[in-house]
Amino acid sequence: MKNIKDFNLEELKEEIIGLGEKKYRAEQIFKWLYVDKVKEFDDMTNLSIELRDKLKANYTMCNFKILKKQESSDGTKKYLFDVLDGNAIETVLMEYHHGKTICVSSQIGCKMGCKFCASTGIKFERNLSSGEIVEQILAVEQDIGDKISNIVFMGIGEPFDNYDNVMKAVRIMNNPKGLNIGARHISISTSGLVPRIYDFANEELQCTLSISLHATSDEKRSSMMPVNNKYNLSELMQACKDYIAKTNKRISFEYALAKDNNDNLEDAKALVKMLKGMLCHVNLIPINKIENGKFVKSTNENIIKFRDYLNENGIVATIRRELGSDIDAACGQLRRKNLKNQEE
Ligand code: SAH
Repeated sequence: MKNIKDFNLEELKEEIIGLGEKKYRAEQIFKWLYVDKVKEFDDMTNLSIELRDKLKANYTMCNFKILKKQESSDGTKKYLFDVLDGNAIETVLMEYHHGKTICVSSQIGCKMGCKFCASTGIKFERNLSSGEIVEQILAVEQDIGDKISNIVFMGIGEPFDNYDNVMKAVRIMNNPKGLNIGARHISISTSGLVPRIYDFANEELQCTLSISLHATSDEKRSSMMPVNNKYNLSELMQACKDYIAKTNKRISFEYALAKDNNDNLEDAKALVKMLKGMLCHVNLIPINKIENGKFVKSTNENIIKFRDYLNENGIVATIRRELGSDIDAACGQLRRKNLKNQEE
């Protein structure tokens, strides 16, 4: 059966016409889904019983089930959701002073193979549909009884490897008739799929683009991120410059600091050289240890030195707060599970 949340408003109108109903019904259904956030077709009380029955016969509501919920000592919550086909994904809720931020997954598994990330090494299963991406927000909001204000596409998966579904989900989040979350409150992170960066520049979306950079030489970056063998640093940086020129938007570069790997002063100098003059911000992430991972977190002293060097040399850099690491909910610690087989 089709997932009713997989349609944008225009597509939903076509669906509803296909059911022999008037187009305006789609607007009503859309409102029930994303404004009233009901869980059942029977809760859509301004629809006729007949239409509700047709909807039930043709569509699912795709209500994710919470299989597990863990809460960190810092208040971060990690959800394991049953996505209703035997797979499970993780979604993280973080509380910042400016509101509630949710870190959504975009795929079941990931193909990118970054050496320091726990989402690697597990079989790639499939893309999440746009409805499944949006459902993560609805399911968390339902659980906490509050509204989410910010979305980051930094969970499991490579958002730009599931480009169309991610863009569709973003527009449903952003639609004033949908979840009405401002695009400026939505960030998308990519490991560097260069052609999609060019596509994204043409979307006319005000979302923040984050680039997982992590190293300043091809040799080092390729040793951490196999995607660099496909799109090297010069192609990536050119795409970033072109993106900024086209959109006039600031890029956020993520740089995960690993001890004796990419955290010394020479690395900081090379980073300054690389980013000098670009409209950007650097987000330093103390690398989180993963099982079997060979990368170790930099010392606090090195992290602060690295940040200070960037700031003193004209590159705005901040250190990302480590939220949820005690429940493996921090950057790079999320995994998928296969419910039919053993835990993955
Ligand atoms: N595939 C996308 C989305 C993942 S976002 C991307 O690569 O950008 C998650 C962010 O956390 C990325 O910047 C990723 O490189 C980073 N990350 C992955 N593993 C990490 C780890 N062990 N410690 C810190 N950051 C990590």
